[in-house]
Amino acid sequence: MLPKHRTRVRFPHSAPVMTQKFQRKIEDFDCENCGTRVLGTGFTNHCPVCLFSKHVDIYPGDRAEKCGGLMEPIGVELERGKYIITQKCLKCGKIWRNEASAGDDISQFLVGLL
Ligand SMILES: [Zn+2]
Ligand SMILES: [Zn+2]
Repeated sequence: MLPKHRTRVRFPHSAPVMTQKFQRKIEDFDCENCGTRVLGTGFTNHCPVCLFSKHVDIYPGDRAEKCGGLMEPIGVELERGKYIITQKCLKCGKIWRNEASAGDDISQFLVGLL
């Protein structure tokens, strides 16, 4: 006689097989100006401490620029309730405007605005 129900063999302790390495889309980087470890959020590529970033974008986020120079913050403006950081590339002189992120230390630039 065949059993009515087949017995399933279970492996209670088997874990799912990891076939892929976890890939991080958000980039962490070390600030080349002050050495701060910057945890990427996916929205910002500038250092929250000194506000420097790198000249790597032609359009925001595209990483298509080959320059790679350090972008120095030269000022902060208040525009429609948002702080905009103006940066200048120390290598090629390109002016770049960046919306400040929550947590950015922009106090050093606010003195002139208040
Ligand atoms: Zn920095
Ligand atoms: Zn540049």
